[in-house]
Amino acid sequence: MEKKTILTGIRPTGHLHIGHYFGASRNWVKLQDKFDTYIEIADVQALTDNFNNPDKVRKSVQDLVIDLLSVGVDPNKATIFLQSTIPEIAELTVFYSNLVTIARLERNPTVKTEIKQKKELFGEKGESITYGFLGYPVSQAADITAFKGNLVPVGDDQLPLLEQCREIVRKFNSIYGKTLVEPEAYLSEIPRIKGLDGNEKMGKSLGNAIFLADDEETVRKKIMDAVTDPNKIKIDDKANPDVCMVYYYHKLIKNENLETVCKECKSGKRGCVACKKELVTKMLEFLKPIAEKRKYYENHPEEVKEILKEGSKKAKKVAEKTLKEVKEKMKINYFD
Ligand code: ATP
Ligand code: MG
Repeated sequence: MEKKTILTGIRPTGHLHIGHYFGASRNWVKLQDKFDTYIEIADVQALTDNFNNPDKVRKSVQDLVIDLLSVGVDPNKATIFLQSTIPEIAELTVFYSNLVTIARLERNPTVKTEIKQKKELFGEKGESITYGFLGYPVSQAADITAFKGNLVPVGDDQLPLLEQCREIVRKFNSIYGKTLVEPEAYLSEIPRIKGLDGNEKMGKSLGNAIFLADDEETVRKKIMDAVTDPNKIKIDDKANPDVCMVYYYHKLIKNENLETVCKECKSGKRGCVACKKELVTKMLEFLKPIAEKRKYYENHPEEVKEILKEGSKKAKKVAEKTLKEVKEKMKINYFD
């Protein structure tokens, strides 16, 4: 039986955070043993809403590759590649853009949420939505289908984008004949990790994340500022752990004292400061092995660059093959 293909991506808009780790990239590490795995650093997509900040995107490319290697992505098993080095993806995007209406893109729940978040973060500045940003789900469909991805391991914020991709595939195949593969989502056991501020989603661009690369002091400060039960005012007030982000992360990183944390919180025996301090210790323990691996790659930047370059070369060959088929089916292969 043919090995199934995994395609997933990450936008170079900052470092990996624990939301990525538990919501998505932990699965990438697990799946790379069994599947043909491609991980895209989606710099073209990052530029759709960061076009005026090329330095940030450029720096984040190398940072992210290091993050991925530090959490255990193995370049001998998974192919890490850079979107902008594969113009075939951009060509597919142009062809697919005929198959999607503007109304459908505007209705896409992920796009809608992201536009809303931008408005909240940047006020009026966030209101001007570009043609490129509105169209990024089409480009994402090109990312996935260029590699004939069967499975797409993502967080659940991505589900509407995947549905959009499936629609494009069906439409393409029904007009031009069966060519593209309809992908399926692969969700983690916790498909969406919440932010330090209690937001439903921890996001790189939302200012509510603990990054895998954060140093001790930063982790401490972020956790000490995390949202807790607003009804707990005094140290011995009884609280509700279910509305507390500190309890939420104790649970996420599987603190072995979780039951005690919960009991003491509910009975008013545990103050929030002590509880946060315990979380800082546990979080730093969790991050330590990742930080150690990161140190190696930070000291070997050429090796990191080479991994991305080689991965991109390999990925380009696959995308070239798909584009050739697509052009044949669309009858625009004049000189072949
Ligand atoms: P940005 O804010 O720039 O969009 P992001 O934090 O949303 O950054 P992406 O690069 O867009 O990160 O997403 C990479 C992958 O990580 C996607 O599969 C996405 O679903 C997943 N992911 C991102 N944030 C979370 C989260 N809080 N919980 C679970 N999965 C997440
Ligand atoms: Mg995102």
